[in-house]
Amino acid sequence: MHNFIKKTALSLGFDACGIARAEELTEDKTFLKLWLDDGKHGEMKYLARNFEKRTDPRLLVPGCKSVVVVLMNYFPEKKQPANAPIIARYAYSEIDYHTIMKSKLNKLETEIRQDYGASCFNDDCQHLFVDSAPVLERRWAQRAGLGWIGKHTQLIASEIGSYYFIGILMLNTETEYDKPVVERCGSCRRCIDACPTRALENGSLDARRCISYLTIESKNDIPEEFQDKLSGCVWGCDICAEVCPWNKKWSVPNSHQELNTVGQITEWKKENWAQMNETEFNRIFGKSAIKRAGFRKLMKNIEMIEKTISIVRLCIK
Ligand code: SF4
Ligand code: SF4
Repeated sequence: MHNFIKKTALSLGFDACGIARAEELTEDKTFLKLWLDDGKHGEMKYLARNFEKRTDPRLLVPGCKSVVVVLMNYFPEKKQPANAPIIARYAYSEIDYHTIMKSKLNKLETEIRQDYGASCFNDDCQHLFVDSAPVLERRWAQRAGLGWIGKHTQLIASEIGSYYFIGILMLNTETEYDKPVVERCGSCRRCIDACPTRALENGSLDARRCISYLTIESKNDIPEEFQDKLSGCVWGCDICAEVCPWNKKWSVPNSHQELNTVGQITEWKKENWAQMNETEFNRIFGKSAIKRAGFRKLMKNIEMIEKTISIVRLCIK
């Protein structure tokens, strides 16, 4: 079964697949509790809910015995023009990655059902996840032998890097399991030093300081202390991933047709973004992950980086 699942996942277009035994994530419980107690999740209150389920998949999916983890490369071939407001690479595709990953995972589930029977799944509850439930995806990817969690808190997949979507399928049956990968950051701290807002201090990510959170998740205005530190980013941030030597060594452009890039992202200059109206936004980004933050938030972020650039220019004069 182990080999069948991995082979099938690759044949469906996933770039890697691993399987871990479903058990309580004891090492994450303490860490997560401290992280939440420190309020590092900011306005993302949902992260504090379902604490027990989040740290034990057998409570989330009763009867769950194995966690299948799949990865899909999203590193785009084309870059944005210099000086364009920066969009995180994971949002380049025309179709929201949740839709793409779920569709592929559904196919994987169908194939497993056909060969091993419906009893492999708990049909009384959701058992397929892409960023949508209390599941510690990166930890499961690490346990499933796909990579390690770097000091920037992202998964670094062995031989392929960190520009990957993660999908999870929970099985109510046992199989063979992959061996966890040993951490390979060593004494490197490039991501920590490169973070413009010092969000990676003290061994964890303080979401309240992270540009990804500030430009997408937070419903509030970006606090003044961060306004001149956005480094041109208006929707997410890839800075800590960009400086990682493993990404420099391993990242290659994806070859997934489903991840067709929105043309405007790699063509538009800053004036095109600044002139965009809401109708255009809905037409261009209506199916993409970018719609999540919404038109107003994106335009506010664009105005913010323009304002800070103008202030810097004035100071230089
Ligand atoms: S995504 Fe950007 S702001 Fe967030 S930790 Fe990484 S470098 Fe810092
Ligand atoms: S930049 Fe260095 S410390 Fe950070 S994740 Fe990459 S290897 Fe690890």
